[in-house]
Amino acid sequence: MSRIETSEPVVARMKTTPNWLRPWISGTLVAALRQRAMALPAIDRKPLLVIVPHQDDETLGCGGLIALKRREGATVGIAFTTDGARSHDGHPLLTPERLVPLRRREALAALDQLGVPKSEVHFLDHPDGGLADLAAAEREVLLTSLLSLLERYHPGQICVPFRWDLHPDHETTHALVVEAVHRWGHAVEILEFPIWALFELRSRHLGMAEFTEMRKLDISAMRQLKRRAILAYQTQIKPTPPWHHGFLPPHFLRTFRGNQELYLSSHPNSVSNVPWATEEQMENDHPKPDDTINKTGTAIRNFPSLPLISAQPTPGPSSAARPPGIKPMTAENRCQISEFFHPHAT
Ligand SMILES: [Zn+2]
Repeated sequence: MSRIETSEPVVARMKTTPNWLRPWISGTLVAALRQRAMALPAIDRKPLLVIVPHQDDETLGCGGLIALKRREGATVGIAFTTDGARSHDGHPLLTPERLVPLRRREALAALDQLGVPKSEVHFLDHPDGGLADLAAAEREVLLTSLLSLLERYHPGQICVPFRWDLHPDHETTHALVVEAVHRWGHAVEILEFPIWALFELRSRHLGMAEFTEMRKLDISAMRQLKRRAILAYQTQIKPTPPWHHGFLPPHFLRTFRGNQELYLSSHPNSVSNVPWATEEQMENDHPKPDDTINKTGTAIRNFPSLPLISAQPTPGPSSAARPPGIKPMTAENRCQISEFFHPHAT
């Protein structure tokens, strides 16, 4: 998961919400979302390419889908865009030099549980926490790597973090994948999975429209495998002395240990295949600066459906269509994930 950078209002809300209330709020809303979401179509044997920033995002977000695809005999490739060096910033023992090889081993062990061989796991090693700030040349290097992976796997589906997942590495990975897919030019389904956004469902700034289009996948047959894969990430889930708390707390992990995964599906190179919006609707659905705010502070959204990926590549998450009220995250608005979950920890 690594560091989370987020906009100041989100941090402020998290800090004013009592600790005991956080799991209850997110758990209740996620349960309601899962209940109302429609099911994803059946699993097929088309190759799946999973592209995520951090070593654990793939298991938490789409570990069940990975295992189901492997059970069907599909090829599954996994790419990590960052080196994962910064999940324990300031830890006296888990320095980046020690952490990077540890997290690599954990990723290979987790993916082994899910049926993915080492030969299909790719570490692209860009700076953890720095994807949104890549220089143009570095960004091109990463895009070239993504294009090579697209050529290698010719995936029928790509899994990436949700476009507004409240973490700059997650959002930037999504934007880069969409850009690479446009350059590649082949039809492919993109399946976005939310991680951090699941914990801000209650946010008055985060529109619910995106979530009405979410689809659920029944992974009950793979639940135990996914749980074992999560356990492989010891550096992320166990206390790492002298720190007394686990990096990812139980209520967070519980969200990803259930029988369902959530996905948002789109086909960026085949606009006409998108079932819920025409190109004209997409144009109208784009968030407008004059979206109004009602008495309770809730943005009255002008768009009835998801503002889908445009037919043109988005240059980056900060300039992508974003719900009104959500500020692009910046390096100045950083907070440690440990503060996010453990605001009183030293
Ligand atoms: Zn992550």
